[in-house]
Amino acid sequence: MLGVVEMAVLCLLAVSWVRLDTSVQGIVLSGVLALAGIVHTEVATGVERARRRVGENSYTDLSSIWTFAAALLLPPALGTATIIVIYTYLWFRVWKPGRFPFYRHVFSTAVVLGSAFAAQGVVGLGGGSQTWSDGITGLVSLALATVVYAAVNSLLIAVVVATSRPGAGMTDLFGHLDDLTVELATLCLGAMLALTLTVSWWFVLFAFAPILVLQRAVLYRELAAAATTDGKTGLLTSAAWNAHAGEAMVRARRDQSGLAMLVLDLDHFKRVNDTHGHLAGDRVLAAVADAVRAEVRGDDLVGRFGGEEFVVLLPGLPEDRAAAELYAVAERIRHRVTTLVVPVDTPDGPLSIRGLSISVGGTMVPHAPGTTVESAMAIADRALYQAKDSGRNAVRIAGSGEIPTQRTEQEIKADAATEERRPEAS
Ligand code: GH3
Ligand code: MG
Ligand code: MG
Repeated sequence: MLGVVEMAVLCLLAVSWVRLDTSVQGIVLSGVLALAGIVHTEVATGVERARRRVGENSYTDLSSIWTFAAALLLPPALGTATIIVIYTYLWFRVWKPGRFPFYRHVFSTAVVLGSAFAAQGVVGLGGGSQTWSDGITGLVSLALATVVYAAVNSLLIAVVVATSRPGAGMTDLFGHLDDLTVELATLCLGAMLALTLTVSWWFVLFAFAPILVLQRAVLYRELAAAATTDGKTGLLTSAAWNAHAGEAMVRARRDQSGLAMLVLDLDHFKRVNDTHGHLAGDRVLAAVADAVRAEVRGDDLVGRFGGEEFVVLLPGLPEDRAAAELYAVAERIRHRVTTLVVPVDTPDGPLSIRGLSISVGGTMVPHAPGTTVESAMAIADRALYQAKDSGRNAVRIAGSGEIPTQRTEQEIKADAATEERRPEAS
């Protein structure tokens, strides 16, 4: 699918360059926009460095202000040349140093070129930039070009994501609503820039202040997201989880719906660190976090409470069989962790860590007015210690008596064999 998009764009490129249609004015404008894109990249990489310190978030480059203006104003050959110059610069300055795969950058470039061709088509059909001063006709032509550019951009990316990751959700396909809003704001600036450039290309200078402020807005949003996300596992931080859990408790009390909590602690995790080093330990934490997330529903809240301890809040459990459901989820997580095989790089070479296990304590969260997140957690924590006392790799749910874990014969034998050596590597 990736190849199809790139081949199609290559064909369009070839056609646009065969019908080379340039003027000195066009070449100057193309140079101005390419230079603006380069200067913007340079200024933005300063902001970007601050963002890298914050987390691993992808670089939201707002270069579409220049690429869209180029698409609106320039004939296809010059428009595409401008975009290719800006994207080549971005590759060397931002993506290559960030070890981004080259084929993905080629795809991003192809998507932008495809969007630009579509927008150019719309402007051409509307009679070109001369019509922009015609009040409503100009407005409709520019608005349509903006929508078409954004739509082609989003759809091409969504189609590739959908074919490479079946089952991807709407956010995976089209990005976060916040990202779409920023993209649309950037395109609006691009349209306004194109309009002012029809008067004089000196107006390009006016575009810098708003685009840099928009860049700061993106940074602010990512800082806020990073503050609530645990860097090692991608789970909620303890503070963020607590805040969300408090809100969920209020909702559950109001709706009288079942709410439950799990506290999980990896067994003998210190041994992983002691045997394979802390980096390997971190890989195990990330793998376990993924395993927990995979076994709960999308609206369950998963957090990293600290060290190798995790917390899960499960809202909306069916009232009549909430405890049984909670037990089943906890048991699924416990079992999944025992099956994990975590590849790690160690000073002695690559190896796989297996034989991990986790102990789980759980409780239904009472609706009584005095109940707090902390008091519910204290109950789940006591259940967790019962699970540890029972020999680890076990689930205990408060108030449910001693429900024996449903370990298979094979697991029990394997546990007995590896208890002293766990976790092991191969
Ligand atoms: P138990 O089965 O009783 O829970 O034993 P344990 O070894 O898992 O528990 P203990 O509390 O003795 O050790 C927890 C270890 O977790 C100690 C600490 O070095 C490690 N740890 C805490 N946070 C991190 C982290 O972010 N990364 C790594 N690699 N290790 C961590
Ligand atoms: Mg612990
Ligand atoms: Mg532990």
